[in-house]
Amino acid sequence: MKAVAMNPRRREIGVVEHAAPRIGAPNQARVRILDVGVCGTDREICAFDYGTPPEGSEYLVIGHESLGEVVEVGSAATGLRPGDLVVPTVRRPCAVPGCITCGAARQDFCTTGEFVERGIKQAHGFMAEEIVEDARFLNIVPRALRELAVLVEPLTIAEKGLAQLASVQQRIPAPSRPGRALVIGAGPVGLLAAMALRQIGYETHVFARARGPNARTAVVEQIGATYLAGDDGGLEGAAKRIGNIDLIFEATGQSSVSFEAMKHLGVNGMLILTGVPAARQPQSIDTDLLMRNLVLKNQVVLGTVNAGTVDFEAAIRDLGRFSERWPAAVRALITGRHPIERARELLANAPRGIKDVVTFDAR
Ligand SMILES: [Zn+2]
Ligand SMILES: [Zn+2]
Repeated sequence: MKAVAMNPRRREIGVVEHAAPRIGAPNQARVRILDVGVCGTDREICAFDYGTPPEGSEYLVIGHESLGEVVEVGSAATGLRPGDLVVPTVRRPCAVPGCITCGAARQDFCTTGEFVERGIKQAHGFMAEEIVEDARFLNIVPRALRELAVLVEPLTIAEKGLAQLASVQQRIPAPSRPGRALVIGAGPVGLLAAMALRQIGYETHVFARARGPNARTAVVEQIGATYLAGDDGGLEGAAKRIGNIDLIFEATGQSSVSFEAMKHLGVNGMLILTGVPAARQPQSIDTDLLMRNLVLKNQVVLGTVNAGTVDFEAAIRDLGRFSERWPAAVRALITGRHPIERARELLANAPRGIKDVVTFDAR
């Protein structure tokens, strides 16, 4: 079967002929892949920044944002039937006996670092015609979300962050006004986070570099959030317009912007960091100001990576709600569906749209 792979030794990216996987244990299911989203992580892997093939393989099949259809189930793959639409989680538990988080099926919080991640670290990913997966890592998606469910995985980033926000902010009595959130970045994760924040009632502002109108500002407008362009007074101007910022949700992977934004975090505020910056030159920041604010304003800074099954379930529920509330805006996030032959080009170039998808569904 065809798959898209990265070969780190030969420094090659492209379509490979990959052995079709077969069910090897009764709790597994075989899944026909329909859609795979292309994201910054994939582009970094395909720039040979990171990404590790599985033991014994020269290449790594990439892809971690996917939607598939179950075609075969093992005798113990309970709860799954052929025809079910499923989105797999990405990280698999480590085998270290003492890892409590992996033992509790929260490998997204793995304490040993010995986990594997499909399409990223020591396990083949989903940009292939078929995959085989343990049933417990497959999340069933309603048919109605067929066209959108490839967005589930990127939405889980926001869901995991917001779940932690909810638990941390239990420390504060419920506020009398809606919380005010500033989302940094208008890529897929930023826009999905903005939708999730609108859904739970936050007054939401999205800060991004480009001046509108464009496809991103249209999405922001449709969901009842405010778009703040970077050259319109910068973060300083944005902070003045918003007032006390209760939450900053960072989705750019740019440390300079994130720490600049942190200066404007409000009383009892929380900064959630989700991007992974490439290591560049050290930069100077006003540590006294940041630390004074952290202490005197009861602030919390939280980094979050990957997501657990609960976050996938929340994302599937929320995607359904978003598609009822803002159908055009959610659809607008997927800006292109492309055949596998175009994968290499999509991976090698900066994104032109919001979310580009490689599709295996010959329709
Ligand atoms: Zn991704
Ligand atoms: Zn672990």
